Amino acid sequence: MPRILVAECIQEVSSFNPFPGRLTDIDCGVGHTWLDSKRGVNDEVDGAIEFFERADGVTIVPGMGAKCITSSGVIAAEDWDALSQQWLNAVSDAGDVDGVYFALHGAMAADNELDPEGFLLQEARKILGEEIPIVTSLDLHGILTDRMIQHNDAVVLYHTYPHVDHKSTAQRACSILLRRMAGEINPVMARVKIPALVRGDELITESGSFGECIKLAKQIEESDEGLAAGMLIGNPFT
Ligand SMILES: [Zn+2]
Repeated sequence: MPRILVAECIQEVSSFNPFPGRLTDIDCGVGHTWLDSKRGVNDEVDGAIEFFERADGVTIVPGMGAKCITSSGVIAAEDWDALSQQWLNAVSDAGDVDGVYFALHGAMAADNELDPEGFLLQEARKILGEEIPIVTSLDLHGILTDRMIQHNDAVVLYHTYPHVDHKSTAQRACSILLRRMAGEINPVMARVKIPALVRGDELITESGSFGECIKLAKQIEESDEGLAAGMLIGNPFT
């Protein structure tokens, strides 16, 4: 019976916020108490629970959840050190697993680490080893760093702004993870950087021009051309 580690670390920095982000600003939990608290909340972890419970014979191994509902300031160094250590300890405590789903944001920042998600993935990879598939979902306001690409088997992005597809994004990621674990696919990733600093109504995916880009990404996912596609737009305040 495959054991799949599920963990979450979601915070979006606003570097315009003069107050440092603190651990007390972040809802944290571990283990089954945390996992059960996610049922019905309509976020990525809720989507992952629903997906894996429908899948045949998957055991969810809960790691640590850490979620900040709103944008907060750059996380103070000592708070980031404490958070990252606790989060990685929970990865270690998970023991042997066959696959990993991480729900991350992609636009965190700490005083002493400008790529917190990349750091977590790098360190998780050291704990888990190179052979365990890791698939991560990100908010489309995230920034895809080299470390995130290096230490993931696949990255799956939101397709909506305002964001309403937390659950389905997780389920797209979990589907890729199961297919990777079954040896059906061997994903590779490509990132194309474009010079853009965007904000405003054209980013509303239902009505704005950004939605046209997302339609193209969905077409890739629905075809044989790709497993996951999307566009990360960041935020001017990130
Ligand atoms: Zn966002």
